[in-house]
Amino acid sequence: MLGSETMAPAALHMQRPLAGQVAIVTGSTSGIGLGILEQMAAAGATVVMNGLGDISQIEDALTRIRTAHDIEAIYVPADLMEPKACVEMITATEQRFGKIDILVNNAGIQHVSPIESFPPEKWDAILALNLSSAFHAICASFAGMKARGHGRIINVASAHGLVASPFKSAYVAAKHGIIGLTKTVALEGAEFGVTANAICPGYVWTPLVEKQIDDQAKSHGISRDEVIKNILLAQQPNKRFAETSEIGALAVFLASDAAQSITGTALPVDGGWTAH
Ligand code: NAD
Repeated sequence: MLGSETMAPAALHMQRPLAGQVAIVTGSTSGIGLGILEQMAAAGATVVMNGLGDISQIEDALTRIRTAHDIEAIYVPADLMEPKACVEMITATEQRFGKIDILVNNAGIQHVSPIESFPPEKWDAILALNLSSAFHAICASFAGMKARGHGRIINVASAHGLVASPFKSAYVAAKHGIIGLTKTVALEGAEFGVTANAICPGYVWTPLVEKQIDDQAKSHGISRDEVIKNILLAQQPNKRFAETSEIGALAVFLASDAAQSITGTALPVDGGWTAH
Protein backbone atom coordinates (compact mmCIF):
# COMPACT_ATOMS: atom_id res chain seq x y z
CA MET A 1 0.00 0.00 0.00
CA LEU A 2 1.18 3.53 -0.76
CA GLY A 3 2.30 5.75 2.12
CA SER A 4 0.23 8.95 2.42
CA GLU A 5 3.27 11.07 1.45
CA THR A 6 3.39 9.40 -2.00
CA MET A 7 -0.37 9.39 -2.65
CA ALA A 8 -2.16 11.56 -5.20
CA PRO A 9 -4.37 14.21 -3.51
CA ALA A 10 -7.61 12.52 -4.73
CA ALA A 11 -6.62 9.17 -3.21
CA LEU A 12 -5.60 10.89 0.01
CA HIS A 13 -8.95 12.68 0.13
CA MET A 14 -10.78 9.36 -0.24
CA GLN A 15 -8.81 7.92 2.65
CA ARG A 16 -9.21 10.99 4.91
CA PRO A 17 -12.43 12.55 3.54
CA LEU A 18 -12.80 14.90 6.52
CA ALA A 19 -9.24 16.29 6.50
CA GLY A 20 -9.25 20.01 7.31
CA GLN A 21 -12.70 19.86 8.90
CA VAL A 22 -13.66 20.53 12.50
CA ALA A 23 -16.17 18.17 14.11
CA ILE A 24 -17.82 18.51 17.49
CA VAL A 25 -19.62 15.50 18.93
CA THR A 26 -21.73 15.98 22.05
CA GLY A 27 -21.76 13.17 24.58
CA SER A 28 -18.59 11.69 23.11
CA THR A 29 -16.91 10.56 26.32
CA SER A 30 -18.73 7.23 26.00
CA GLY A 31 -20.71 4.86 23.79
CA ILE A 32 -21.99 5.95 20.38
CA GLY A 33 -20.58 9.48 20.66
CA LEU A 34 -17.09 8.14 21.30
CA GLY A 35 -17.52 5.74 18.36
CA ILE A 36 -18.49 8.66 16.09
CA LEU A 37 -15.62 10.83 17.38
CA GLU A 38 -13.11 8.05 16.67
CA GLN A 39 -14.40 7.48 13.13
CA MET A 40 -14.34 11.23 12.41
CA ALA A 41 -10.73 11.38 13.68
CA ALA A 42 -9.83 8.38 11.51
CA ALA A 43 -11.34 10.27 8.56
CA GLY A 44 -8.93 13.15 9.27
CA ALA A 45 -11.16 15.63 11.12
CA THR A 46 -10.05 17.78 14.02
CA VAL A 47 -12.34 16.54 16.80
CA VAL A 48 -13.93 18.15 19.84
CA MET A 49 -15.05 15.82 22.59
CA ASN A 50 -17.83 16.77 24.99
CA GLY A 51 -19.59 14.88 27.75
CA LEU A 52 -19.38 13.97 31.40
CA GLY A 53 -16.74 11.76 32.96
CA ASP A 54 -13.48 11.39 34.79
CA ILE A 55 -11.00 13.95 33.43
CA SER A 56 -8.00 11.61 33.53
CA GLN A 57 -9.90 8.99 31.50
CA ILE A 58 -10.97 11.72 29.07
CA GLU A 59 -7.33 12.86 28.68
CA ASP A 60 -6.23 9.25 28.10
CA ALA A 61 -8.89 8.80 25.38
CA LEU A 62 -7.84 12.05 23.68
CA THR A 63 -4.16 11.09 23.74
CA ARG A 64 -5.00 7.69 22.24
CA ILE A 65 -7.11 9.29 19.46
CA ARG A 66 -4.48 11.96 18.64
CA THR A 67 -1.73 9.36 18.45
CA ALA A 68 -3.74 6.84 16.43
CA HIS A 69 -4.97 9.32 13.83
CA ASP A 70 -2.45 12.19 13.83
CA ILE A 71 -5.14 14.85 14.28
CA GLU A 72 -5.97 17.54 16.86
CA ALA A 73 -8.43 16.49 19.54
CA ILE A 74 -9.64 18.59 22.45
CA TYR A 75 -12.24 18.32 25.21
CA VAL A 76 -14.84 21.03 25.81
CA PRO A 77 -16.68 20.38 29.05
CA ALA A 78 -20.30 21.55 29.07
CA ASP A 79 -23.33 20.32 30.95
CA LEU A 80 -25.77 20.40 28.06
CA MET A 81 -28.80 20.43 30.37
CA GLU A 82 -28.06 24.19 30.48
CA PRO A 83 -28.90 26.19 27.31
CA LYS A 84 -26.08 28.65 28.14
CA ALA A 85 -23.55 25.81 28.29
CA CYS A 86 -24.63 24.58 24.83
CA VAL A 87 -23.89 28.00 23.37
CA GLU A 88 -20.59 28.32 25.29
CA MET A 89 -19.46 24.93 23.92
CA ILE A 90 -20.01 26.15 20.35
CA THR A 91 -18.37 29.53 21.02
CA ALA A 92 -15.31 27.91 22.64
CA THR A 93 -14.88 25.57 19.65
CA GLU A 94 -15.21 28.39 17.11
CA GLN A 95 -12.75 30.52 19.08
CA ARG A 96 -10.21 27.70 19.15
CA PHE A 97 -10.51 26.48 15.54
CA GLY A 98 -12.20 29.37 13.73
CA LYS A 99 -15.13 27.25 12.49
CA ILE A 100 -17.32 24.21 12.98
CA ASP A 101 -17.96 22.06 9.91
CA ILE A 102 -19.70 19.14 11.58
CA LEU A 103 -21.99 19.25 14.59
CA VAL A 104 -23.11 15.88 15.94
CA ASN A 105 -25.84 16.15 18.56
CA ASN A 106 -25.56 12.83 20.33
CA ALA A 107 -25.70 13.37 24.12
CA GLY A 108 -28.68 11.58 25.56
CA ILE A 109 -30.12 9.87 28.58
CA GLN A 110 -32.94 7.42 29.13
CA HIS A 111 -35.48 6.63 31.82
CA VAL A 112 -37.84 3.67 31.69
CA SER A 113 -41.09 3.77 33.63
CA PRO A 114 -44.83 3.34 33.09
CA ILE A 115 -46.34 6.72 32.24
CA GLU A 116 -48.51 6.99 35.35
CA SER A 117 -45.41 6.88 37.55
CA PHE A 118 -43.01 8.62 35.13
CA PRO A 119 -41.22 11.25 37.27
CA PRO A 120 -41.85 14.77 35.82
CA GLU A 121 -38.24 15.73 36.57
CA LYS A 122 -37.05 12.82 34.39
CA TRP A 123 -39.36 14.03 31.59
CA ASP A 124 -37.84 17.52 31.86
CA ALA A 125 -34.26 16.20 31.94
CA ILE A 126 -34.73 13.91 28.92
CA LEU A 127 -36.37 16.67 26.88
CA ALA A 128 -33.62 19.14 27.92
CA LEU A 129 -30.71 16.90 26.93
CA ASN A 130 -32.06 14.70 24.12
CA LEU A 131 -33.92 17.48 22.27
CA SER A 132 -33.37 21.03 23.54
CA SER A 133 -29.55 20.80 23.75
CA ALA A 134 -29.51 20.00 20.01
CA PHE A 135 -31.70 23.03 19.33
CA HIS A 136 -29.39 25.35 21.31
CA ALA A 137 -26.20 23.96 19.71
CA ILE A 138 -27.69 24.24 16.21
CA CYS A 139 -28.85 27.83 16.86
CA ALA A 140 -25.35 28.81 17.99
CA SER A 141 -23.53 27.21 15.05
CA PHE A 142 -25.98 27.67 12.15
CA ALA A 143 -25.16 31.26 11.17
CA GLY A 144 -21.45 30.41 10.86
CA MET A 145 -22.16 27.34 8.73
CA LYS A 146 -24.47 29.31 6.43
CA ALA A 147 -21.95 32.14 6.07
CA ARG A 148 -19.17 29.66 5.13
CA GLY A 149 -21.52 27.84 2.73
CA HIS A 150 -20.79 24.49 4.33
CA GLY A 151 -22.11 22.56 7.30
CA ARG A 152 -23.15 19.12 8.42
CA ILE A 153 -25.60 18.67 11.27
CA ILE A 154 -26.06 15.08 12.37
CA ASN A 155 -28.56 14.31 15.10
CA VAL A 156 -28.38 10.95 16.80
CA ALA A 157 -32.06 10.10 17.18
CA SER A 158 -33.10 6.45 17.53
CA ALA A 159 -35.41 3.81 16.10
CA HIS A 160 -37.55 5.31 18.86
CA GLY A 161 -37.72 8.46 16.73
CA LEU A 162 -39.73 6.42 14.22
CA VAL A 163 -41.67 3.95 16.37
CA ALA A 164 -42.58 3.71 20.06
CA SER A 165 -42.11 1.19 22.87
CA PRO A 166 -43.96 1.16 26.18
CA PHE A 167 -42.45 2.80 29.29
CA LYS A 168 -40.29 5.27 27.31
CA SER A 169 -42.66 8.23 26.95
CA ALA A 170 -40.10 11.02 27.36
CA TYR A 171 -37.42 9.33 25.26
CA VAL A 172 -39.81 8.51 22.41
CA ALA A 173 -41.26 12.04 22.48
CA ALA A 174 -37.76 13.61 22.42
CA LYS A 175 -36.54 11.33 19.63
CA HIS A 176 -39.62 11.94 17.46
CA GLY A 177 -39.06 15.64 18.18
CA ILE A 178 -35.45 15.65 17.06
CA ILE A 179 -36.42 14.13 13.72
CA GLY A 180 -38.86 17.03 13.23
CA LEU A 181 -36.12 19.48 14.18
CA THR A 182 -33.77 17.77 11.70
CA LYS A 183 -36.24 18.22 8.84
CA THR A 184 -36.83 21.90 9.63
CA VAL A 185 -33.10 22.64 9.86
CA ALA A 186 -32.53 20.76 6.59
CA LEU A 187 -35.01 23.01 4.82
CA GLU A 188 -33.48 26.16 6.29
CA GLY A 189 -29.92 25.11 5.43
CA ALA A 190 -30.47 23.58 2.00
CA GLU A 191 -29.63 26.66 -0.07
CA PHE A 192 -26.51 27.35 1.97
CA GLY A 193 -24.68 24.03 1.69
CA VAL A 194 -25.77 23.00 5.18
CA THR A 195 -27.31 19.53 5.52
CA ALA A 196 -29.11 18.05 8.51
CA ASN A 197 -29.83 14.38 8.98
CA ALA A 198 -30.82 12.08 11.80
CA ILE A 199 -29.32 8.66 12.47
CA CYS A 200 -31.76 6.21 14.03
CA PRO A 201 -29.89 3.36 15.70
CA GLY A 202 -31.62 0.28 17.03
CA TYR A 203 -29.85 -1.31 19.98
CA VAL A 204 -26.15 -0.59 20.30
CA TRP A 205 -24.28 -2.04 23.27
CA THR A 206 -23.31 1.00 25.38
CA PRO A 207 -23.55 2.05 29.06
CA LEU A 208 -26.98 3.59 28.30
CA VAL A 209 -28.34 0.20 27.21
CA GLU A 210 -26.59 -1.61 30.04
CA LYS A 211 -28.47 0.56 32.57
CA GLN A 212 -31.77 0.01 30.75
CA ILE A 213 -31.48 -3.74 31.10
CA ASP A 214 -31.75 -3.43 34.88
CA ASP A 215 -34.57 -0.84 34.65
CA GLN A 216 -36.55 -2.97 32.19
CA ALA A 217 -36.04 -6.09 34.32
CA LYS A 218 -37.56 -4.18 37.26
CA SER A 219 -40.46 -2.72 35.22
CA HIS A 220 -41.39 -6.09 33.66
CA GLY A 221 -40.45 -8.27 36.64
CA ILE A 222 -38.14 -10.51 34.55
CA SER A 223 -34.42 -11.42 34.46
CA ARG A 224 -31.66 -9.56 32.58
CA ASP A 225 -31.29 -12.40 30.06
CA GLU A 226 -35.04 -12.31 29.38
CA VAL A 227 -34.87 -8.53 28.85
CA ILE A 228 -32.07 -8.94 26.27
CA LYS A 229 -33.77 -11.81 24.41
CA ASN A 230 -37.47 -11.03 24.75
CA ILE A 231 -37.53 -7.23 24.86
CA LEU A 232 -34.42 -5.55 23.43
CA LEU A 233 -33.45 -7.86 20.58
CA ALA A 234 -37.02 -9.08 20.08
CA GLN A 235 -37.48 -5.88 18.09
CA GLN A 236 -34.34 -6.30 16.04
CA PRO A 237 -34.74 -8.93 13.28
CA ASN A 238 -30.97 -9.38 12.79
CA LYS A 239 -30.66 -10.32 16.51
CA ARG A 240 -27.45 -8.44 17.20
CA PHE A 241 -26.42 -5.23 18.90
CA ALA A 242 -24.80 -2.81 16.45
CA GLU A 243 -21.23 -1.64 17.11
CA THR A 244 -20.61 2.04 17.83
CA SER A 245 -18.21 2.05 14.85
CA GLU A 246 -21.13 1.27 12.52
CA ILE A 247 -22.90 4.43 13.65
CA GLY A 248 -19.61 6.32 13.31
CA ALA A 249 -19.14 5.10 9.73
CA LEU A 250 -22.56 6.43 8.71
CA ALA A 251 -21.85 9.75 10.45
CA VAL A 252 -18.57 10.08 8.49
CA PHE A 253 -20.39 9.38 5.23
CA LEU A 254 -23.10 11.97 6.03
CA ALA A 255 -20.36 14.48 6.82
CA SER A 256 -18.50 13.83 3.56
CA ASP A 257 -18.85 15.59 0.21
CA ALA A 258 -20.44 12.42 -1.19
CA ALA A 259 -23.52 13.08 0.96
CA GLN A 260 -24.09 16.70 -0.04
CA SER A 261 -27.52 15.92 -1.54
CA ILE A 262 -28.68 13.88 1.44
CA THR A 263 -30.60 16.13 3.81
CA GLY A 264 -33.71 16.02 5.97
CA THR A 265 -33.55 12.25 6.34
CA ALA A 266 -33.90 9.89 9.30
CA LEU A 267 -31.72 6.88 8.54
CA PRO A 268 -32.32 3.68 10.49
CA VAL A 269 -29.35 1.52 11.55
CA ASP A 270 -31.58 -0.96 13.30
CA GLY A 271 -31.18 -4.42 11.79
CA GLY A 272 -34.63 -4.18 10.22
CA TRP A 273 -36.57 -3.15 13.35
CA THR A 274 -38.53 -0.32 11.73
CA ALA A 275 -39.21 -2.40 8.59
CA HIS A 276 -41.94 -4.18 10.59
P1 NAD B 1 -23.91 6.63 26.79
O1 NAD B 1 -24.54 6.68 28.13
O2 NAD B 1 -22.84 5.64 26.53
O3 NAD B 1 -23.35 8.06 26.37
C1 NAD B 1 -24.05 9.24 26.63
C2 NAD B 1 -23.13 10.41 26.50
O4 NAD B 1 -23.86 11.60 26.86
C3 NAD B 1 -21.93 10.34 27.47
O5 NAD B 1 -20.78 10.85 26.84
C4 NAD B 1 -22.36 11.25 28.60
O6 NAD B 1 -21.27 11.80 29.34
C5 NAD B 1 -23.11 12.32 27.82
N1 NAD B 1 -23.96 13.11 28.69
C6 NAD B 1 -24.87 12.69 29.61
N2 NAD B 1 -25.40 13.75 30.26
C7 NAD B 1 -24.81 14.85 29.73
C8 NAD B 1 -24.93 16.24 29.99
N3 NAD B 1 -25.76 16.71 30.92
N4 NAD B 1 -24.17 17.10 29.26
C9 NAD B 1 -23.30 16.63 28.32
N5 NAD B 1 -23.15 15.33 28.05
C10 NAD B 1 -23.90 14.46 28.74
O7 NAD B 1 -25.14 6.43 25.77
P2 NAD B 1 -25.22 5.96 24.24
O8 NAD B 1 -25.96 4.68 24.19
O9 NAD B 1 -23.89 6.07 23.60
O10 NAD B 1 -26.20 7.06 23.68
C11 NAD B 1 -25.78 8.13 22.83
C12 NAD B 1 -26.96 8.60 22.01
O11 NAD B 1 -27.41 7.52 21.18
C13 NAD B 1 -28.17 9.03 22.83
O12 NAD B 1 -28.76 10.18 22.25
C14 NAD B 1 -29.09 7.84 22.74
O13 NAD B 1 -30.42 8.19 22.91
C15 NAD B 1 -28.80 7.37 21.33
N6 NAD B 1 -29.16 5.98 21.07
C16 NAD B 1 -28.57 4.95 21.73
C17 NAD B 1 -28.94 3.65 21.42
C18 NAD B 1 -28.30 2.47 22.08
O14 NAD B 1 -28.77 1.35 21.87
N7 NAD B 1 -27.23 2.64 22.84
C19 NAD B 1 -29.92 3.40 20.45
C20 NAD B 1 -30.51 4.49 19.81
C21 NAD B 1 -30.12 5.77 20.11
